[in-house]
Amino acid sequence: MTSPSPAERLLDDLEITEPDEIDVEVIAWAVGARVRYRPLPRGDARIVGMGERAIITVDDRASRVRQRFSVAHELGHWHHHRGQRLICHGGSVDAEADACEREADRYAADLLIPRSMLMPRVADAPISFALVERTARRFGVSTLAAALRLADVHPGKFALIVTEPDGRRWFRRSPALPKGWRVRVDTPDFQSRTHPPSDPDAMQHVLAYYHLLGRGLRGLLVSRETVQLRSGQMLMIINAVS
Ligand SMILES: [Zn+2]
Repeated sequence: MTSPSPAERLLDDLEITEPDEIDVEVIAWAVGARVRYRPLPRGDARIVGMGERAIITVDDRASRVRQRFSVAHELGHWHHHRGQRLICHGGSVDAEADACEREADRYAADLLIPRSMLMPRVADAPISFALVERTARRFGVSTLAAALRLADVHPGKFALIVTEPDGRRWFRRSPALPKGWRVRVDTPDFQSRTHPPSDPDAMQHVLAYYHLLGRGLRGLLVSRETVQLRSGQMLMIINAVS
């Protein structure tokens, strides 16, 4: 059993036990931060803190889902990076290069999709795009945020491959995917094809080596779902359950 993260402990302290009780403004207020909405010239949000008080400013033109994530992300900075430079321009930051941004994103995921609420809802359901969408709706988060969170906690053996609008690809693997299996992001078939938005019901079965490398994969089939996200990204779910 993983011990609760700081965000999950905060939810416990506030006796929040259901996804629709995760009201980010109320949670912010409980930790001394006020949230206000106005147009921001760049980035989705920022936080300015002094002593025990902070103001989080969120772009009022962003979608509600994005605003919630932004508030939760800034609360991550408030928890982890208080007293440090507290002006954050999310969205313009290279997340890979910035450990603070990753830490704030992690906090946001824990706050908005806490393990204790997610696990009972997904433990018996095989990974699929339908499950990702259901999770996104239930927790009021983006499809990608739900998918990444499922890759943290779901017991299935699967990998997510995300293609950015500029063609850059990255992946996330579930904990149960055998360690010796490497995820390929260079699959020629994948690279050269322009995927139409797939019908979420149309799951394909393909040879595992299209997407995975390692021992024991010969002849193995994996299921594959590809979906175009509203963000312009492409999400592929490679599920190694035969
Ligand atoms: Zn940030």
